[in-house]
Amino acid sequence: MKSRQTKSQSIKQQPLERQPVTVLKGVGPKVAERLERLAIEQVQDLFFHLPLRYEDRTRVVPIGSLRPGMQVVIEGEVDLAEVVFRRRRTLLVRMSDGTGAITLRFFHFSAAQKAQLERGALLRCFGEVRPGASRLELIHPEYSRIDSFDAATDAHLTAVYPVTEGVHQLTLRKLIAQALDKLERGEALREWLPDPLLEQLQLPTLAEAILYVHRPPEEAPLDQLVDGEHPSQQRLVFEELLAHHLSLRKLREEAQRQPAPTLQAADQLRRKLLTSLPFELTAAQRRVVGEIDRDIEAEAPMLRLVQGDVGSGKTVVAALAILRAVEAGFQAAIMAPTELLAEQHLQNFSAWLEPLGIEVAWLSGRSKGRVRSEALARIGAGHARVVVGTHALFQDDVLFDHLGLLVIDEQHRFGVHQRFALREKGIKAGRHPHQLIMTATPIPRTLAMSLYADLDVSIIDELPPGRTPVKTVVLSDTRRDEVVARVSEACSNGRQAYWVCTLIEESELLEAQAAEATASEMAEMLPGLRIGLVHGRMKSVEKERVMAAFKAAEIDLLVATTVIEVGVDVPNASLMIIENAERLGLSQLHQLRGRVGRGSAESSCVLLYHGTLGQTAKRRLMVMRESNDGFVISRHDLEIRGPGEVLGTRQTGEMSFRIADLMRDQVLLPEVERASMALLADYPEHVTPLIRRWLGEGSRYGEV
Ligand code: ADP
Ligand code: MG
Repeated sequence: MKSRQTKSQSIKQQPLERQPVTVLKGVGPKVAERLERLAIEQVQDLFFHLPLRYEDRTRVVPIGSLRPGMQVVIEGEVDLAEVVFRRRRTLLVRMSDGTGAITLRFFHFSAAQKAQLERGALLRCFGEVRPGASRLELIHPEYSRIDSFDAATDAHLTAVYPVTEGVHQLTLRKLIAQALDKLERGEALREWLPDPLLEQLQLPTLAEAILYVHRPPEEAPLDQLVDGEHPSQQRLVFEELLAHHLSLRKLREEAQRQPAPTLQAADQLRRKLLTSLPFELTAAQRRVVGEIDRDIEAEAPMLRLVQGDVGSGKTVVAALAILRAVEAGFQAAIMAPTELLAEQHLQNFSAWLEPLGIEVAWLSGRSKGRVRSEALARIGAGHARVVVGTHALFQDDVLFDHLGLLVIDEQHRFGVHQRFALREKGIKAGRHPHQLIMTATPIPRTLAMSLYADLDVSIIDELPPGRTPVKTVVLSDTRRDEVVARVSEACSNGRQAYWVCTLIEESELLEAQAAEATASEMAEMLPGLRIGLVHGRMKSVEKERVMAAFKAAEIDLLVATTVIEVGVDVPNASLMIIENAERLGLSQLHQLRGRVGRGSAESSCVLLYHGTLGQTAKRRLMVMRESNDGFVISRHDLEIRGPGEVLGTRQTGEMSFRIADLMRDQVLLPEVERASMALLADYPEHVTPLIRRWLGEGSRYGEV
């Protein structure tokens, strides 16, 4: 007993960031467990559980002046309390204060409650005023009995918090009040932002900000608070963004302290590939290859993100990096998020690299049995110099001989965790592979610097010459016949077209069936055309056969599902119809449309929609009509869906902020970046506790 007491005594002397919520009154193991669902484990976590809105209980409002919709505190005396039986048993309490009367209505009540609400009782109630049958009403108000009418009301606005099952508003409010009281009494919550920084940014201290946000004074600017734009909130947001930024910077520092192979070579292989290609690199491609080279020639591992629009030629840039690794005597791996994209890379890399005498291995989730064990053996022995695959590259039994470079395509579908897990694979003989990440979801530079603070960013900001912007129109599918006529005309003029049937309820099967039905319908309507069909349920060889025929212009119209979103490259195809375009997101539409406009002929895209367009769908389709630029499109996408959805980090819980909102708080990002550098340089001892405060003990940073 005694030792337990001293233990809890000593916990209470810890700064608030080290005190578990269980030090608070009313928090036993059960409540603690429920609070965990709200990510509240330490006392300080309660401070960052911010109000959704506020209620004004600072004034008692005369009943005579009430209007429906007001949220108010009123006081009065019970004139009459009766239980009536209508559709359900109801307790009706009439209360008045000399200026008017109001009815309190309760559908659920105990005998004790009924006794409390007796005639003559003095009450203070809080609730929303509603119109009633004979007079205004409060339904299930919060109430308490009072001794007299002159008791003081709340000194500040009342916060309303987000709750979870089993943790009620009042419980949470009481717990937060206990925590705030500790803070007000002067218990320490360390301030990790140095004074000069706070002064320069004109932000309040942490304690000031917390107290203000939870207990704003009566005259606080509510609109600003509800929008999250008050300096007190910005102060907390800033600290949270800073903590995330710092955690990524630490990850980066950590990674860069590892030794990496220096990839130097005479670049014979590169020259051979470049002379075999039918095109010259663009200036942007050359610049990015140069940026990569500087990284991989160094002794620290490269961590570079290449952003480039659809069709900007990222694959060949990756191939050049891979050739450097191979010529320097190392293996390289390239990983894609889907089977189809990986297959496309396999085709490209086999065609480019095998003539140079480089063995390319393939690993996907579908590789099984002998095929798989042979691939593993070739990889393990170092015979396979280049490995192309999907997530299957992550599996524990995949051991490289000496992986020097890892390329990840379409980064937005991989999380930070996965990136690090994969790099671990390369740690053999103490070497960390260089890492190149390619994404076709380009995001604005400030956002990229923040979200990818662990990476350097290169941008391929130029398309290969000869591309013409795709003219895009948005049409209701009531005009489908006109569109079919247009396809017929284009094809009889020697052009080729895609007809894309979009995903129905995420089902590959249904989508394939829709494509089959459309293909037979087109065959009926357009008997003069050669029509092909490709969808995800077909065998790989079958798909390849159809695609090859389309490429060879033996097919005029290719009816397809969204499987052609990536990789497909047929320059003579200059017309694309996308059915039910309203179902697709912006980046998917942009990827799909990127299949046309690859040749010099004027290309067009028809976005057919079904029924009446909703607001968001309309906005998306208008963006597609207005722009061909992936950066512009992704900016709109970010606005419409938010970064978590666009970057796929929401599902993984990464980059999920407690209070910051990347879009709303974007303006802070450049300052966050500067502050992050300053802290790392001048206050390194503040960095870890700050990260821990916001990301917890088990943060990504902690795991590396
Ligand atoms: P993405 O960046 O979308 O992955 P790809 O790497 O698939 O683009 O390239 C799209 C097409 O452009 C491919 O057919 C590729 O061979 C071609 N390409 C790449 N670079 C150039 C270039 N510099 N000039 C002409 N065509 C190029
Ligand atoms: Mg690509």
